[in-house]
Amino acid sequence: MGVIHRLRWGTLVDQWLDQELDDDRAERVLSHLERCKDCRTAAEEYACIKRALARMEMP
Ligand SMILES: [Zn+2]
Repeated sequence: MGVIHRLRWGTLVDQWLDQELDDDRAERVLSHLERCKDCRTAAEEYACIKRALARMEMP
């Protein structure tokens, strides 16, 4: 996978996981993840990291 691809979609996936995207862009990320295994793997890793971070942040 190309670096540009990773940067471009990585940022979107990151924002998508944080629910910062509007419906239109969230839809685009979802349909991309369906087609692109690399970004799907990256998304799972991001989700994993975010869960771990959330656990560390005490209220
Ligand atoms: Zn991709």
